[in-house]
Amino acid sequence: MKSRTLRRADELVGAGLLPARRRREVERVARRFAVALTPHVVEMIESGGAPIARQFVPSTAELRVAPEERADPIGDDRFAPLKGIVHRYPDRVLLKPLLVCPVYCRFCFRREAVGKGGALTARELTAALDYIHGNPAIWEVIITGGDPFLLSARRVKAIVRALDVIPHVQVIRFHTRVPIVEPSRVTPALVAALATDKAVYVAIHANHPRELTAATRAACARLGKAGIPLLGQSVLLKGVNDNAATLEALFRGLVAMRVKPYYLHHADLAHGTAHFRTTLSTGRDLMRTLRGRVSGLCQPTYVVDLPGGYGKVPVAPCYAEAIDDDSWSIEDSTGRRHRYPIATP
Ligand SMILES: *Cc1c(COP(=O)(O)O)cnc(C)c1O
Ligand code: SF4
Repeated sequence: MKSRTLRRADELVGAGLLPARRRREVERVARRFAVALTPHVVEMIESGGAPIARQFVPSTAELRVAPEERADPIGDDRFAPLKGIVHRYPDRVLLKPLLVCPVYCRFCFRREAVGKGGALTARELTAALDYIHGNPAIWEVIITGGDPFLLSARRVKAIVRALDVIPHVQVIRFHTRVPIVEPSRVTPALVAALATDKAVYVAIHANHPRELTAATRAACARLGKAGIPLLGQSVLLKGVNDNAATLEALFRGLVAMRVKPYYLHHADLAHGTAHFRTTLSTGRDLMRTLRGRVSGLCQPTYVVDLPGGYGKVPVAPCYAEAIDDDSWSIEDSTGRRHRYPIATP
């Protein structure tokens, strides 16, 4: 059993994840963007091969920045009233207690921010919680990062307790990749730290069916048994999951372990990620293929997060168009169109 997270090119060579002749160039990538592969991810690459390796092993393609790419691809900075908070929508905020992850995904939308230093100080965290306290419109707090499940159970508990006493906060949502990349961190103590009478949701980032290992299933079961509803978040990635069979297996796998696929994200315009992006038409065709053939539980919403901070927008295919004042044309899952009458009063 390997015990250490790999962070350097020579360690990747040593683990057989990189040919020695590519060490130098990967060192250059690692100076630009953080690298980390947990022992669990290394095992997952050994058993799962290319679609897993591609997500975590750095590539020189990352040094090519396309003109449309940005340091802050979804416009977080514009909506950050103070450190650790992003407040784009009136009813919910992001709380980012740390910008550290157990792994660094090569396509990460926050890759210019994560892995470059630490957590909020106690004073900054208090200021962020005070901001939430002072804004009665905030109904939901989404704890993200970085990866909040890297915090100790004690610190997670302190955040949950602090949100618990804010009356207008009704929903607490964690976004994490820990159950996939380091499932042993989902300890009974961490699960217990999430306990409150308020609704706590956990959204899990998973992109390929081979990420759903026995250890991950067990971690999700620990969360599920505590009564925590689980959501799945996936990114559409070229060379990883950009075909219908893989997405079908991923979404079926998640639903079968009680994780409801929530969003399929179109890959964001982060620096050096063009080799991961499909076209929007590819994404829409894939969603169209799943619709009708695969259980409705397995259908996430396909979204683009607009650059500039304009938010997430569903970009799934549209099946209905108005014909005239009293009828619509609606396409079924086999592609046949039907006239749908609208009763006019
Ligand atoms: C993604 C995001 C949310 C959450 O959006 P939902 O559609 O509720 O999942 C909230 N705030 C910001 C700034 C976001 O980027
Ligand atoms: S876990 Fe999330 S925040 Fe961290 S590197 Fe991966 S995509 Fe980025």
